[in-house]
Amino acid sequence: MDRYGVFGNPIGHSKSPQIHRLFAEQTGQALSYEALLAPLDDFEGFARDFFRQGRGANVTVPFKEQAYRLADQLSERARRAGAVNTLKQLDDGSLLGDNTDGAGLVADLLDNRVAIEGRSILLLGAGGAVRGVLEPLLAQRPARLVIANRTRARAEQLAEAFAALGEVSASGFDELRAPFELIINGTSASLGGELPAIANEVIRPGHSVCYDMMYGKAATPFNRWAAGQGAAKTLDGLGMLVGQAAEAFLLWRGVRPDSAPVLAELRRQLMEG
Ligand code: NDP
Repeated sequence: MDRYGVFGNPIGHSKSPQIHRLFAEQTGQALSYEALLAPLDDFEGFARDFFRQGRGANVTVPFKEQAYRLADQLSERARRAGAVNTLKQLDDGSLLGDNTDGAGLVADLLDNRVAIEGRSILLLGAGGAVRGVLEPLLAQRPARLVIANRTRARAEQLAEAFAALGEVSASGFDELRAPFELIINGTSASLGGELPAIANEVIRPGHSVCYDMMYGKAATPFNRWAAGQGAAKTLDGLGMLVGQAAEAFLLWRGVRPDSAPVLAELRRQLMEG
């Protein structure tokens, strides 16, 4: 049976094993998938050991940059992201590195009938998650995309790095005044129960859609704020998580699983947990 897993540290709460088991069941694929605690001081040795038998792996915090360096070949989106969340062993034994986070976000937005093409997008944050979603978002041809970060210089670096792909610009939080049609929170502020310090005016009541990459049983602080400002729709990052897993499964197995029933099951468990 082909062996897969997710490398992380910590890894105990990963939902990936469950997602991939549900995908395997749904598509009739025989595979095993487990959560693997990789050592902080020897990711490479651990990964190479796994790939003596393993066929593919997901990679999560804090190893995505190390996985990028480990890969023998990179997909274009992984190269641009500077990070790898999916490794696949090719027939010649070499490792292909991909980054499916952005494709997962785009798939979730489109599944929720949120248009990207021709829209104005505000992307908050400039860390690994934002870097990973920029290429797939720009490939959908938004009218413009503003990257705003607490530390403005990091947003500027990203805007410069992705300028060739579309209408991208950088901003600090305090310069934002005009409304956007789609606002995506890719900061980790919600983890600490905080909000990015942006003006309420970025939301146009009844029109703007807001997306928090974070998720939880209760609405995230960002989505509570957005709903309070009259956002037309708020979405959280559980769909992105399932979406990036579906893209990884496709890369490994050549079959695209249906995310919707798996997302519904995860949501049900999250609400009950
Ligand atoms: P990083 O640590 O790489 O980046 C953190 C970012 O958040 C930086 O831009 C930082 O700004 C900003 N930030 C942190 N605290 C605050 C605050 N209080 N106010 C404003 N900005 C703040 O994290 P990641 O990019 O890896 O992850 C970001 C989020 O995305 C996390 O919540 C993570 O869980 C989520 N995520 C979700 C995924 C999914 O599948 N749903 C996949 C990947 C990530 P500064 O530069 O100024 O420090």
